[in-house]
Amino acid sequence: MRLALLGPPGSGKGTQGAVLREHFKIPHVSSGDLLRTAVRDGTELGRKAKAYMDAGELVPDALVLAMMKERLGKPDCRSGFLLDGFPRTLAQAESLTRMLADDRTSLEHVISLGVTEKEIIARLRDRRAQEHRSDDDDGTVKQRLRVYFAETAPLLEYYRKQGLLREVQGIGKPDAISVAIRATLGNGR
Ligand code: AMP
Repeated sequence: MRLALLGPPGSGKGTQGAVLREHFKIPHVSSGDLLRTAVRDGTELGRKAKAYMDAGELVPDALVLAMMKERLGKPDCRSGFLLDGFPRTLAQAESLTRMLADDRTSLEHVISLGVTEKEIIARLRDRRAQEHRSDDDDGTVKQRLRVYFAETAPLLEYYRKQGLLREVQGIGKPDAISVAIRATLGNGR
């Protein structure tokens, strides 16, 4: 099963990603988590990425693509994966399509979690209180939302045209959202 989760920051990608990983026994590959680990470990990638992340900007495509190519090349991704937070730009999506085509595979479903802007701001405020994420302050949240709508939202159309988009309402109890996601994947497996 090769899946990608799309949605604005705070739409529940992390929560639903963890559920899907358990359900399908596939690695949950979160570009944000990989980048945060690189920052924490002080790697060259982490040093280059930190300023963009703190400002709520996207890390340049070339850095993210190299990181994701390496991650998706690992043996645990051979039988499938769940992408979370990647792709985030049209250029990333096109590169991913090519990367997978080189391995004679492709994404099977792209799940879009729909949440209103008001709900997102409230959720991210709660998350900042609980997780102390340095990029969850109000100014940075607004910037990340602007970036989402400008750079990432166009991917919905890109995947809709390919017949891969599965749109799910991201508001409600997490369990109910998980059920809706499985239903939209067609077989409830
Ligand atoms: P996330 O945890 O997915 O919200 O990501 C946190 C931050 O990491 C984002 O605000 C970006 O600065 C950076 N980031 C994560 N994924 C990507 C990506 N696919 N492309 C560019 N930047 C990313």
